[in-house]
Amino acid sequence: MSTIDKSNTKKIIILASNNKYKIEEFKKEFQDFEILSLSDIGFVDEIEENGTTFEENSLIKANAISTYLKDKQIKYDYIIADDSGLCVDALGGAPGVYSARFAGNHDNAANRKKLLEVMTGKLDRNAHFTCLITLMKPDSSYQTFEGICKGKILDHEEGNSDFGYNNLFYSNKLGKTFGSASIEERLVENHRGKAIAKIKEYFNKL
Ligand code: IMP
Repeated sequence: MSTIDKSNTKKIIILASNNKYKIEEFKKEFQDFEILSLSDIGFVDEIEENGTTFEENSLIKANAISTYLKDKQIKYDYIIADDSGLCVDALGGAPGVYSARFAGNHDNAANRKKLLEVMTGKLDRNAHFTCLITLMKPDSSYQTFEGICKGKILDHEEGNSDFGYNNLFYSNKLGKTFGSASIEERLVENHRGKAIAKIKEYFNKL
């Protein structure tokens, strides 16, 4: 658990994740905020994501953190809980909410290997990523924000990302895989970047 800066005047977002890739993206996009991860707030439990939609799972995560924070002396302004995944047309939208567990338990390389296998010979390579973010306040009121980006599943890896399906997902807009793109390029076009842009719009109107 890292030390929380009590002299900090920035608004605080608790990010319901320990994923270093997601943390990097949120920190880049919300530079006027202090971002605290689950390990920063000492949350060590496994959250059971047993919803059947991205929205349900992101709400499950947000509620779990909100409940955890109820009796803690941790001041915060928002919880952000993101649930995301890859939906492949030729697979009827799979792996979808099961993206992290497609080939078992959160093994990114195994997930990519399985995706390559099940896509062998498929002519329709269209896919999209969806990101659903729940933005929750300390009083547990919340809003949700969705971001979607379209692309194609390659038949080989391109890029040097170890996260998720980045090396297999060719972004139609960027003209390269997310695994070959810089973080700045990615955030303009990816599903999280698009959901985050909607949150920023919402903040701007407050
Ligand atoms: P989550 O942490 O429950 O949202 O898991 C989402 C899963 O979807 C991840 O483990 C990845 O396999 C995949 N995924 C979500 N977003 C991305 C992305 O931006 N790039 C690559 N894979 C992603």
